[in-house]
Amino acid sequence: PHQIEIRNLHASVGDLPILKGIDLIIPRGELHAVMGPNGNGKSTLAKVMVGDPEYTVTEGDILVDGVSILEMEPDERARMGLFLAFQYPVEIPGVTIANFLRLAMQARKEEGEEVSFTEFYGKLLAALKTLDWDESIVERYLNAGFSGGEKKRNEILQMLMLEPTYIIMDETDSGLDVDALKVVANGVNSMRGEKLGGLIITHYQRLLDYIVPDKVHIIVDGKVVQSGGPELAKKLDAQGYDWVKELATA
Ligand code: ADP
Ligand code: MG
Ligand code: MG
Repeated sequence: PHQIEIRNLHASVGDLPILKGIDLIIPRGELHAVMGPNGNGKSTLAKVMVGDPEYTVTEGDILVDGVSILEMEPDERARMGLFLAFQYPVEIPGVTIANFLRLAMQARKEEGEEVSFTEFYGKLLAALKTLDWDESIVERYLNAGFSGGEKKRNEILQMLMLEPTYIIMDETDSGLDVDALKVVANGVNSMRGEKLGGLIITHYQRLLDYIVPDKVHIIVDGKVVQSGGPELAKKLDAQGYDWVKELATA
């Protein structure tokens, strides 16, 4: 099956349980939003999916295209097509955007296979055009002195270049003005289709005006308490999160 299946997923930090039985199926071809009040496990879910060693899976499984990824290192997961856009992107001193992209593309190839300059440069120009970004940006050092908007644009640039099968975007909208939000949404929407699946994690409905999700799931206290269509995000926007918190204790 071409899908991500999260099955009864429990995860902890040290002795503290954070995810308490998440069940989700995200078919390739669909983007699902994950929403929920702050501090309820949304980012933890993203980090567990990409194999952040700080979190321990205590029960359950994550299957990508039918294969359990729990024992895989983060780079193996990336080669399975998983891509995480970070909530707080890192700075890597001395590495330009161009270097980074080239290395990241190379890392996803099989051994002995080279990313040709033509392939790299062709993709880069197309991606920069989608993002309405000047070519000179790629000579800048990764995230050094970037504005919030530039960091997000850079995440989307990475995504366009790496062509992941499944994306996980965590709070990509935080701190973005409407113009930057539209650029991000444009980039994601340009990749939408049968070949792309993923999760868009967001506290606010705003981004979902521009990237309309196929489904919406609400996480409270480490569990999915409700799933629905895009209208669920609108309801949260209008009514806030109080009613969902009650669902969690019911
Ligand atoms: P959300 O993304 O929904 O705001 P998080 O997944 O970031 O929530 O956090 C869920 C809960 O787990 C919070 O109470 C948070 O403090 C706790 N938590 C997450 N990561 C860690 C960590 N590395 N160490 C300690 N507590 C953590
Ligand atoms: Mg948070
Ligand atoms: Mg978070």
